[in-house]
Amino acid sequence: MVVEQQTVDERLAWVERQYWIDKDVALAAAQDWLVELGPGEHGALSRRLEVQVASIMTRRGDPRQGAAEVQHILRWAERHGELALQSRAHDVLGSIFELVGDRALSLEHAVATNDLIDESELPLMRSAARLTLADALGSAGSFDEARRRYNEALRMVIDDPETSIRYQILNNLAYTEYLAGNHEEALAAVESLISLSALNERPIGMYARDTIARVYLTAGRLDDAAATLVAALEAKPVDYHPDSIACALVTLAETYRRQGRFDAAQAVIDRCKELTTEHTLVRWATEATREQAEIHAETDDYKAAFEAYRSYHEQSIALGASENEARGRILEAMFQTAESRRESEHYREMAERDPLTELPNRRFVDEHLNVLLALLREGGAPVAIAMLDVDHFKRINDTLSHEVGDQALRELGRILAEAMALVPGAVAARLGGEEFLLIMPGLDANAVRVLCETVRRAVMEHDWSPVAPGLRVTASLGVARAPDDADTSSALLRAADVRMYVAKRDGRNRVVHAGD
Ligand code: GH3
Ligand code: MG
Ligand code: MG
Repeated sequence: MVVEQQTVDERLAWVERQYWIDKDVALAAAQDWLVELGPGEHGALSRRLEVQVASIMTRRGDPRQGAAEVQHILRWAERHGELALQSRAHDVLGSIFELVGDRALSLEHAVATNDLIDESELPLMRSAARLTLADALGSAGSFDEARRRYNEALRMVIDDPETSIRYQILNNLAYTEYLAGNHEEALAAVESLISLSALNERPIGMYARDTIARVYLTAGRLDDAAATLVAALEAKPVDYHPDSIACALVTLAETYRRQGRFDAAQAVIDRCKELTTEHTLVRWATEATREQAEIHAETDDYKAAFEAYRSYHEQSIALGASENEARGRILEAMFQTAESRRESEHYREMAERDPLTELPNRRFVDEHLNVLLALLREGGAPVAIAMLDVDHFKRINDTLSHEVGDQALRELGRILAEAMALVPGAVAARLGGEEFLLIMPGLDANAVRVLCETVRRAVMEHDWSPVAPGLRVTASLGVARAPDDADTSSALLRAADVRMYVAKRDGRNRVVHAGD
């Protein structure tokens, strides 16, 4: 069991690590594992994989679906006290909101992911959480706070040459310093990035090269900026795609213009406009128009410059609106999921409760046992159950009344719930009639014995006189444990049932365990 648990943990760590090595591999690894697990309940494991899939899909396309899904998983993790999963979900939500420009929500999730992350978590994952927080702080304008987190994130992965996380951290740090107007710090980060890449012979991506070029531009190093961008466009690094190319072209056009190479600048802007039209890259189309206006202004074509500025202004208003619209759609999708979930959870809650005793019912037992047994298979805690049947209950109905019988069942429900409240995760449920089930996860055989004996005595010694004067109630219990007796819920329930009948046969008011 222990060995198997380790391999699951190790495999999960490997899958999550791939995110920072090769996102295609990371996506395929998570999806393959989900297929392997198959349908059914797999607890936190399958949800961790789903979070990874959603996070990669989100970066590649529509963030709406991913955001709603991860939000849903977060709620599940909160209900089940799965802290590591909560932290992962917050991390991805922090990035999604950062992506769509909601600074407040991004920061909220980024803070939560760091609060919840366990210090025993792998350095790579802790570094990733810090990076999310640093990005959120930077976007919110807290540059000093952001810088501190970037540096913390960097220190955690200082000897991790295999992943791309250090490049991402240095790139984001450089860009933050650039936005903050700290040219020297931006330059220092850029230089670290370049020497890191040289040291590991790892090519720098398009966006990072754009960051580098922008920093060079503000430092007045026009030739270096141009060389960086031209090399990037020729090298076609891993993130060479229309969006990153258009981004680099805008910067290259600005560089040429500032070098006084207006024809070259115009040619680059023309190429950029073509690309943004072909792929409807609204943001870069807008930036290209702004750069076009600058080129016209510097070549003294003031009329054309004025036209271009005006259209830039209109485009940027439209862009702002469409970004807001995208954000609105994401929030709406999340809100709707939350709403429909609240509604369905209300009905589910009703469907899983017994109206007489208000205890969970058989339907709940079926689902809950399956979850606990699935967790057990993944290396989770053992699960004990006790089938409890009231002794000679028919007599209570017959000699007193059916109402007194009901009252006694209600009272019994309270006694059982109270006893189970002593043990974390333990639950008392009503299976039907005068039959109850106790579910006791995480206890060894001896602790189960002690607890069941406590229950038997509590029923026997309870003062039943308020229900009916002189009433005495006892119960018989049959206990079974997973994995020792069985590892499916039907076999486990059967084993407990058989032992409960042994308790009846042996004289009632007793508990029968394995081997008794
Ligand atoms: P033992 O289990 O000790 O063998 O005897 P018993 O008298 O409890 O036996 P049995 O299980 O056959 O009887 C259970 C009775 O519980 C039958 C039914 O009338 C009664 N009962 C079942 N559900 C309810 C309920 O919701 N309210 C009341 N008042 N009685 C119920
Ligand atoms: Mg019965
Ligand atoms: Mg009975």
